[in-house]
Amino acid sequence: MSQPTLPPSAQRRALLAFYDANARDLPWRRDRRPWPVWVSEIMCQQTRVQTVVPYFDRFLARFPTPASLAEATEDEVLGLWSGLGYYRRARLLHRGAKEVVARYGGEVPAGREERLGLPGVGRYTAGAIGSIAFDAPEAVVDGNVSRVLARLHRIETPLGRADTEKRLWAEAERLVFGPRPGDLNQALMELGATVCTPRNPSCGACPLASACAGRAAGVAESLPVPKVKKAPVPTHLVAVVATARGKVFLRRAQEGGLFRGLWGPPTLETRPAEPAQLGLLDAAPKPSAKDTHRPAPDADAARAALASVGLSARVEATPRGQVEHVLSHRRLFVTVFRAVAARLQRPDDAQRAFDDAALGDVGISRLTRKILAAGGFR
Ligand code: SF4
Repeated sequence: MSQPTLPPSAQRRALLAFYDANARDLPWRRDRRPWPVWVSEIMCQQTRVQTVVPYFDRFLARFPTPASLAEATEDEVLGLWSGLGYYRRARLLHRGAKEVVARYGGEVPAGREERLGLPGVGRYTAGAIGSIAFDAPEAVVDGNVSRVLARLHRIETPLGRADTEKRLWAEAERLVFGPRPGDLNQALMELGATVCTPRNPSCGACPLASACAGRAAGVAESLPVPKVKKAPVPTHLVAVVATARGKVFLRRAQEGGLFRGLWGPPTLETRPAEPAQLGLLDAAPKPSAKDTHRPAPDADAARAALASVGLSARVEATPRGQVEHVLSHRRLFVTVFRAVAARLQRPDDAQRAFDDAALGDVGISRLTRKILAAGGFR
């Protein structure tokens, strides 16, 4: 193929025409006020758009302004975020709303530096709010934009490397300078999400096809070169689903732990299990007669997990199952035990017993849902 040519002004026109004709109808595109834009951008980070839509609608209905979020309890915020994952985003948004109230009278600030000073607002989120809500010529670079630009300019260095990121931001800034910056940014994101997809990009339908160096060289699909990631570290835990009178005992994860602020069953990290225990327990060999008279090592760990929270309950000798859960940096293998207590402790801010209906009002992670299901509670 010949060297691609399309001046930046023509690329801009092509992108805006593409957006005008093809933009998906998403709830946050109907409301360009800074608060809905901020909420949607935080929710959409690392989460698929279709997953976000119902969460966004519920969240905005309950918290239509930063002030309404600032007044909410963390439990209520995490409860509405439950299932969306990456709960740190919700905590930071909550803090950000409080700061907007305290410092800016409840209005999201128009100034870029002020926006960048808010908790959880980095260069990407500041640029999205600035360009969409304030019509400021500020660029955004997310996963979709990175893919489009890396292919368009045939950038062959890995994502995450300083020189790659610098180049991507420079290319994005070059395009956003002009009228309709918010639509231009959204056009790039939309193109990455719907046309310039990770596999099998639809180059025939792409408004930038005649400018695309990656396509011309036949290397588009191999770009961008992925970030060098560390494999998640295997981590082995026991979790105890302790019940009494139809309620389950949960505690709030503390500062420094996984899932901080969310409610979950008592857990304890254990040594790596034997290979046979790493798969589903159903597939593990049956214990010998001799073994059945000895408590499995994990049952001791289950008792220790309960003791660590001061709960006394009778732990079943064999686990109910094992669940696996992958986080960005850890792969969790959780052996789930069931325990029955005569009574559960008096509730306080850190521990409480919930019936099934009450679990809907507080933040619990997907992992906790899996553990409760494995333990026969939900
Ligand atoms: S031509 Fe193909 S590879 Fe290049 S930006 Fe368009 S969809 Fe992506």
